[in-house]
Amino acid sequence: MTGTGGPDDLDLAISGGGLVGASLALALVPLGLRIAIIEAMPPGSTDHPSFDERTTALANGSVRIFQSLGVWRHMEREATPIRRIHVSDQGRFGVARIDAAEQGLEALGYVVPNRVMGAALWEGLRAASGIRLMAPARVIDTATVPGARTLRVERAGGEVIELRAKLVVAADGTRSALREQAGIAAEHWEYSQTAIISTMTTQRFHDHVAYERFTPEGPIAVLPLSDGRCGIVWTRRPEEAARLLALPDDAFLAELQTAFGFRLGRLLCIGARHSYDLALSRSERHVAERLAIVGNAAQGLHPIAGQGFNLGLRDAASLAEVLADALADGAADVGADAPLQAYAAWRAEDRGRIVAFTDGLVRLFGTPLGALRGLRSLGLLAFDSFPAAKSAMARLSVGAAGRIPRLARGVPLNGNR
Ligand SMILES: Cc1cc2nc3c(=O)[nH]c(=O)nc-3n(C[C@H](O)[C@H](O)[C@H](O)COP(=O)(O)OP(=O)(O)OC[C@H]3O[C@@H](n4cnc5c(N)ncnc54)[C@H](O)[C@@H]3O)c2cc1C
Repeated sequence: MTGTGGPDDLDLAISGGGLVGASLALALVPLGLRIAIIEAMPPGSTDHPSFDERTTALANGSVRIFQSLGVWRHMEREATPIRRIHVSDQGRFGVARIDAAEQGLEALGYVVPNRVMGAALWEGLRAASGIRLMAPARVIDTATVPGARTLRVERAGGEVIELRAKLVVAADGTRSALREQAGIAAEHWEYSQTAIISTMTTQRFHDHVAYERFTPEGPIAVLPLSDGRCGIVWTRRPEEAARLLALPDDAFLAELQTAFGFRLGRLLCIGARHSYDLALSRSERHVAERLAIVGNAAQGLHPIAGQGFNLGLRDAASLAEVLADALADGAADVGADAPLQAYAAWRAEDRGRIVAFTDGLVRLFGTPLGALRGLRSLGLLAFDSFPAAKSAMARLSVGAAGRIPRLARGVPLNGNR
């Protein structure tokens, strides 16, 4: 353990125990720090905003991070490999296919239900030593004091306690209150699009293919699931989404069938439907005095390319790495400015590339502009016959571009740099 102090003096406190905050806490375990993780929702809650009914397409780099954290074995049984990605544009000839085997990969990524990831991560946290779990509890304020940052935390029942930590991490999602309390601005761009998510049974087996289908009304992603069903993410304008959400199952399936086509035969059965309003949000900075921002608190993306969590998990892996390196180099203070600046520089580059890619896709495929549609199908055709573009896309699916965190390469935090 590093540092000294009273019972509520910590090395590091994380606000938000969702997918990214919980992953970060687990990644930090080998560093022997005194850590607290504060999560607003009780574990296992059916209203959990992070561990909900969604399924997440994990890049191979993210799977490697989960393997390094020792939690993948608890997710693996319900993880479905993606062997091929099929991209099409309704009413156009262009089709792009990316094949894992062609790229020399076992899989292009894996689909895992968010609830499965949440349960595995929190099980890992409960089993870890040195982590104080506070849930349900809510961070309500922060301030800097000499050598530390304080957090006021409201526990269930209304009791408010104060924590002091050398470093505080905001992992509290897109509308991060901690980021705001620390005075860091964020830009927020509403796409005026709503994603409907659900699961469906289909006449034909998915055969481990993930589909991305662009239609003039919005994209549909269909992801293979472990029990033979498929997860869907169907993006529509908000008023259209409201109409679709209110339809009886058979009418909803009929509209989905028209938009998606018959690649999987007839669509037979649809599960519960949930909706998410889509936006692009970006914090002005990744760090402030004794504060780092990770995951959706740093950036919230459109799910069109399935990059949001993968990027957030790389935030967590990179922050853990710069802190591990600083400690290995003899630093006594995990909240010192130098590792935070290293983290900020690293993340700015990765985020810039992923936001440009994702937002570019939304703008290219999210609009029914005649001229653009021509370009799009040309683009898809060219893409399918241009191996370099496919390799680049496959690398992105793998989460391998730019500087890759050690954990994403399967190297332990305290392993070779
Ligand atoms: C429809 C949809 C599909 C998606 N599909 C994919 C995909 O396939 N691949 C992919 O990579 N990404 C995907 N994403 C993105 C991904 O879900 C997010 O990037 C991810 O959930 C971010 O995790 P997070 O932990 O940063 O934030 P969140 O999931 O928002 O978690 C934040 C946590 O902080 C807690 N919290 C909030 N305020 C406080 C407070 N004051 N005190 C304490 N705790 C607090 C919340 O209870 C919550 O648990 C998708 C997103 C959507 C909307």
